[in-house]
Amino acid sequence: MRWGLCPPRPGTAVLAVARNLCGPSLLPCRLGWRGSRRLLVRSVTGATNQLPNPDRGKYRDTVLLPQTNFSMKLLGRQQPDTELEVQQKSGFLELYSWQRERKVKSEFCLHDGPPYANGDPHVGHALNKILKDIANRYHMMKGSKIHFVPGWDCHGLPIEIKVLSELGEKAQNFSAVEIREKARSFAKAAIEKQKSAFIRWGIMADWNNCYYTFDRKYEAKQLRLFYQMYDKGLVYRAYKPVFWSPSSRTALAEAELEYNPEHVSRSIYVKFPLLKPPPKLASLIGDSSPVSCLVWTTQPWTIPANQAVCYMPDSKYSVVKCATSGEIYILAADKVTSIASILETTFETISTFPGIDLENGTCAHPVIPDKVSPLLPANHVTMTKGTGLVHTAPAHGMEDYSVASQHNLSMDCLVDEDGIFTDDAGPELQNKAVLKEGTDVVIKMLEAAKNLLKEEKLVHSYPYDWRTKKPVVIRASKQWFINITDIKTTAKELLKKVKFIPGSAQNAMIEMMDRRPYWCISRQRVWGVPIPVFHHKTKDEFLINSQTIEHIIQLVEQHGSDIWWTLPPEKLLPKEVLSQIGGPDALEYAPGQDILDIWFDSGTSWSYVLPGSDQIADLFLEGKDQLGGWFQSSLLISVASKNKAPYKAVVVHGFTLGEKGEKMSKSLGNVVNPDVVINGGQDQSKEPPYGADVLRWWVAESNVFTEVTVSPSVLNAARDDISKLRNTLRFLLGNVTGFNPKTDSIPAKDMYVIDQYMLHLLQDFASKITESYKQYDFGKVVRLLRAFYTRELSNFYFSIIKDRLYCNHENDPKRRSCQTALAEILDVLVRSFAPILPHLAEEVFQHIPYVKEPRSVFRTGWISTSSVWKKPGLEEAVESACAMRDSFLGSIPGKNAAEYNVIIVIEPGLLFEIIEMLQTEETSSTSQLNELIMASQTTLLTQEPLEITADVIKLEGTFLINLEGGDIREESSYKVIVMPATKEKCPRCWKYTAESSDALCPRCADVVGGK
Ligand SMILES: [Zn+2]
Repeated sequence: MRWGLCPPRPGTAVLAVARNLCGPSLLPCRLGWRGSRRLLVRSVTGATNQLPNPDRGKYRDTVLLPQTNFSMKLLGRQQPDTELEVQQKSGFLELYSWQRERKVKSEFCLHDGPPYANGDPHVGHALNKILKDIANRYHMMKGSKIHFVPGWDCHGLPIEIKVLSELGEKAQNFSAVEIREKARSFAKAAIEKQKSAFIRWGIMADWNNCYYTFDRKYEAKQLRLFYQMYDKGLVYRAYKPVFWSPSSRTALAEAELEYNPEHVSRSIYVKFPLLKPPPKLASLIGDSSPVSCLVWTTQPWTIPANQAVCYMPDSKYSVVKCATSGEIYILAADKVTSIASILETTFETISTFPGIDLENGTCAHPVIPDKVSPLLPANHVTMTKGTGLVHTAPAHGMEDYSVASQHNLSMDCLVDEDGIFTDDAGPELQNKAVLKEGTDVVIKMLEAAKNLLKEEKLVHSYPYDWRTKKPVVIRASKQWFINITDIKTTAKELLKKVKFIPGSAQNAMIEMMDRRPYWCISRQRVWGVPIPVFHHKTKDEFLINSQTIEHIIQLVEQHGSDIWWTLPPEKLLPKEVLSQIGGPDALEYAPGQDILDIWFDSGTSWSYVLPGSDQIADLFLEGKDQLGGWFQSSLLISVASKNKAPYKAVVVHGFTLGEKGEKMSKSLGNVVNPDVVINGGQDQSKEPPYGADVLRWWVAESNVFTEVTVSPSVLNAARDDISKLRNTLRFLLGNVTGFNPKTDSIPAKDMYVIDQYMLHLLQDFASKITESYKQYDFGKVVRLLRAFYTRELSNFYFSIIKDRLYCNHENDPKRRSCQTALAEILDVLVRSFAPILPHLAEEVFQHIPYVKEPRSVFRTGWISTSSVWKKPGLEEAVESACAMRDSFLGSIPGKNAAEYNVIIVIEPGLLFEIIEMLQTEETSSTSQLNELIMASQTTLLTQEPLEITADVIKLEGTFLINLEGGDIREESSYKVIVMPATKEKCPRCWKYTAESSDALCPRCADVVGGK
């Protein structure tokens, strides 16, 4: 019988009932035990934890300190150099083809959105490519064959403009072919730079078979898709207002615009004098005062092109008398007060009438004498801005254009490709830039005609050319379009079945598609794929058919699209067609001068790259700008071609920004260059070499679904995180030396409770990590990982197991039990971060003493977990002991825990049984309980000892046991009695467990003696 034990008191009856509910005693055998809440393991704080010291004299060689060549820290160049070495040793470049050759059933296909081949690799590239690589490496380790063919968007204005600006004045003397040649070399140089950066970042891909939109086979495939759509009647040519960039001299697509919220326009209020009153209003309007319709516009330069004034038939309008001028005005009834106030006057309402009554009225053009501007009904008129009467210039507005088509108005455009008024605009305006002096002259003309009521500056969001950063205009010109009305309906239906991450991106994309009226696919440039059409030299006719297209596709496939500019027109046409249209000598057709929109280029990539007959990727992963760009163009072309979406899932990430969320720019000095991040800058004390893994960790930990900030402090924090992880790994590697899992492992059921508990936590960690990767939530992976290696491992587990690892006999099952857990932890940990930090993972893998082959962790699969680790009752045992340990440590701040003995007193009951799992003897210095308590010796009692000295510290606490999903809830109290150790300090393990100061403690004597 234990000393101090007394019979149970009446109060313990409740406990007895609870015990009966749980069946027979001895916790580890009970099934169905589970805590209804997860208790947090508290880290060891408040006391020092002295460890065996290597300089411990004669017993030094008997202590099993960690042994590994894995460096604790990589300083300076060591970090990037080690990564390069790891890439070599573990075969980064061969991994892609290795995994392709595996005989596995499932395939994961991530279709790479092509970055522009114009310029150096930047952090935006890093964000995108690293996210893709993490996804790919995860799926590959899970057992899927990865299909990932990287590509580049090689054509287009961005490159052409760079080439032209480099050529400067000389550009005018260059032919289309010469400019194309220069653009091609420019793109090739950019591709080489970007590609080598991507490889350096550790991106696993089919680097030998990348796709390029300037590849002749790619171009041929694209022309085939173009004709397919033409043949279905989806492609048409029309004279329409489109976004036009005077600074680039070309039409632009919606995706090529950037809206500047700070744009300042000169907005004007203009009178359109009534010429012929609407019949229904004739009686209202006398001859005494002049009557005018009031309009408002932010683009005064479009006034000369005015063809009508539109009203909303269902809205109310008023005839008012102006207090200042005495003139009569017509405007929307709702706007009477606000417009009067803007014009700094008052209006007296004479009459209010429905808009429909304005029918059949006409106005005089405010600056062009004798020109009539009819009043027309239109549904696009809104009452939110302006006067409710809308100035309509069909050549300069999409809605104006549709009114004009309905009423057969002239759509003449008075503005040329440079944004300059043509001669048709009249002598006052010709040769003037519409957005500059042209606007000024129009306003002066209005003033002179006494039709200007007010001019004011308006700050509003206005479209700019994304390349030249200059404002665009809307201008009618002859262009090629894709009719997307029907395609959009199908596309929107198909999008509903696509998984979007984040989910909100789905609606954003649908809304963007809704706003797109048609797709203008022609550009008036040379660096691109030609629109394969021949135009009649004199008539407004063009030639394209299956014969001409087949001939051109064959030529392009063999020689590339340069042939459009190099071959004479008669060679571009097949013989049969040529003879039908009069033969080579009388050829009346010339090849068209338009090229295809680059969004059409890249939008066809799925058909060139994706494998299988259905050509559907598992994932597209790009920045949010692609919701209106590549995600959309790929979808529209895929739907037009085969009525299917080209992707099953879409992940959308934000943009990279500076530390405070500002844009990166050279002038702000906040541009983060990935090469400098990896290799360090000029001053390495300010810009140290971090290596690629820091860049990858930053990408993974960022909340990529919003804007992603990057700065020196963010990168420093990433390096510190990795450095802590490195130390954790070094501890694991050092302590599995001399351990062979095949022969030395301890079966789970025989392991220490605390070791089993760690495996239980590991199991939980592994399943959460796997789920987070599956959801592409890499930020969560990092958070879970960081919590696990700092809290559960470094601060908790590693701080209590050192005595067992270092001081027990090498083959002691207790030590082997710990090593079994450490080996499992190492295995799971290295896999859990491998997709994010492949260099560190491979470096660690090469240092695992018992792993000889293969040389790469990526060739050994994903985390394998076992349900054996999920053992009931473990959490309660370890966590209640930790609670007691924390009371103890809290009472001896700053002191060495080994200088104390601890008595734990718990009344008989559930808690006692649980704690008894950890220590069967009454007093022990080597038990599991004593290891957790960290004292020199722990005694477990059911009643306070009768005789205790005065200098003890008595602590009390309670622990809530919550079992069977809350069916059994029991709060048990315990006492912790802390007293100075009574024995002497053992010179080997430094615990106060030796009989005399020059003798070893019994455990150490046994270990040393047994050697
Ligand atoms: Zn000892």
